[in-house]
Amino acid sequence: MPNKIVVLGAGVSGLTTAYLLSKDPENQITVLAKHMPGDYDIEYASPWAGANYMPVGKQGSNHHAWERDTWPALKEITEKYPEAGIHFLDAIIYNRKKDQETATGKWFSELVQPNPWYKDVVPDFRDIPESQLSPEIDNGQIFTSVCINTAVYLPWLVGQCTKNGAVFKRAIFRHIADAANAHHSGQKADVIVNCTGLSSKFLGGVCDENLLPARGQIVVVRNDPGPMIGLSGTDDGEDEALYMMTRAAGGGTILGGSYQKNNWDALPDPNLANRIMKRAIAIAPQLVKEGEGIEGLDIIRHGVGLRPLREGGPRVEKDEVAGVKIVHNYGHGGFGYQASFGCAETAISLVKEVLQNKTRAKL
Ligand code: FAD
Repeated sequence: MPNKIVVLGAGVSGLTTAYLLSKDPENQITVLAKHMPGDYDIEYASPWAGANYMPVGKQGSNHHAWERDTWPALKEITEKYPEAGIHFLDAIIYNRKKDQETATGKWFSELVQPNPWYKDVVPDFRDIPESQLSPEIDNGQIFTSVCINTAVYLPWLVGQCTKNGAVFKRAIFRHIADAANAHHSGQKADVIVNCTGLSSKFLGGVCDENLLPARGQIVVVRNDPGPMIGLSGTDDGEDEALYMMTRAAGGGTILGGSYQKNNWDALPDPNLANRIMKRAIAIAPQLVKEGEGIEGLDIIRHGVGLRPLREGGPRVEKDEVAGVKIVHNYGHGGFGYQASFGCAETAISLVKEVLQNKTRAKL
């Protein structure tokens, strides 16, 4: 008997989990979601992400392990599958100690510290000599990272899953247990993997009060600064951020950003957009021609996404709701891509435990 699995959600968490599960021919997978790759919606975080690999998990935490375990998978996809829309790019990180206590500074604290755990994970990690830093920067580092064109990568994941036999269907559920009855076999699913991101705050049977949005506003431009750049904070507000990254395969450059907790506003704030663009040019004047300001930026679009932040970290654990076995994999804040494979692997080991218990119960 095949394993009947429903993956609820088609963001990076659901698609990565479905992709890894679909490699086992014993697994019969239905991916159900309100939003699919190609959609842009405030309830769907994944398309808005940069997305790059800039680890932020505290040393020794699960988060650290998930990010560490994701790097080899992203590296392999980048090397083997250029059609996945990921490329290697230098990442330059600058730290100002004065940002330490701000919302952005706390988010970036592991990333910007001088001797981070990830120096042994990513290639070519090195400190930037003090003589090359501007006076307001306390320390800086450079390493090889990746930048993902989410508009190419998410459909690539869908393609890998469908090639392996997974079936995709649009559906909206008010209660998580109802998804068990929507498996494409017509039979009840053995297990649901819940990858509904921030919506798990409101989804019946889950209603996780620890979830909150961390609003990220971006400007996507045609200009290219070269390497990716990130700074620990800004002087414009403690929940504003400064980062930029050029996506693979013509995806444009993402200028960010913000990290506004509990802010649900889906509309871009034009004043914040101006500050994002000004800050970007101040730190990377090569974005525009000499002497130009923000008028030299060629804007593709403004955007807002809500990072599915969770107090206490992502929820990757087993559960049972109304007699239906669930494995949760949600709450990945601003690190859903860079922790995607690590989290999916943990979720899959929990799915295996559920399926083993099912087999034992039948004997
Ligand atoms: P989502 O992408 O939100 O997907 C949720 C899915 O569940 C959707 O398909 C939705 O339709 C479905 N769903 C929800 N409720 C229901 C329901 N009731 N019924 C049916 N379907 C439902 N991360 C990085 O690693 N690197 C980065 O550089 C990065 N940059 C970012 C920049 C910005 C501006 C933002 C906003 C985020 C960034 N992130 C980054 C974070 C990353 O985007 C998220 O962590 C990740 O996308 C979360 O993915 P998810 O699949 O868990 O959720």
